[in-house]
Amino acid sequence: MILSDVFERVKQNVSIEQVISYYLPKTELRRAGKNLVGLCPFHQERTPSFTVDREKNVFHCFGCGVGGDTVKLVSLALNLRPLEAARQICRDFGLPVDRPATPEAKREAKKAARRHKAKADLDLMVHMVHEELSAWYRAINRVLALGWPAYIEFAEYAHLLPVIEYWLDILDHGTAEEKIEVLKQCS
Ligand SMILES: [Zn+2]
Repeated sequence: MILSDVFERVKQNVSIEQVISYYLPKTELRRAGKNLVGLCPFHQERTPSFTVDREKNVFHCFGCGVGGDTVKLVSLALNLRPLEAARQICRDFGLPVDRPATPEAKREAKKAARRHKAKADLDLMVHMVHEELSAWYRAINRVLALGWPAYIEFAEYAHLLPVIEYWLDILDHGTAEEKIEVLKQCS
């Protein structure tokens, strides 16, 4: 089942008033035009700035700035992450909760997370080494541009330039394996 399904199901079936009276029963709301207002359950106040828009099914507090939809309200009230809050609402209001993931799906998700992390780590390393190599490349060029005396002193570095250029090219455009190879050589 797709994640967004559970949010959609809550949205379609449960109103903001229902979740307020279920999860924050002490909140008293009165009509004000087409909205409802009351004392904010999320901060201390004496004049009501907690506003509920029944048409749009959202809430907003002009005092502390919190606001959002039914799921947001329950995630604040119960200190849950949005998905957990949505599932909780489904359970409490008799709506189907998504099926627990199969062991197979869990393994796949773990693998995907590992792949994602490995890629992020590689990207970071590539970025750092790229910066360092670029700095070297610029420094060597600067020294060589100074002309003969410096050139002779640093001549041994001159031959590094094409190598660095080649490495930078791989870090920019190479495959993951090629990049890893360059990182090994540079470390
Ligand atoms: Zn508030």
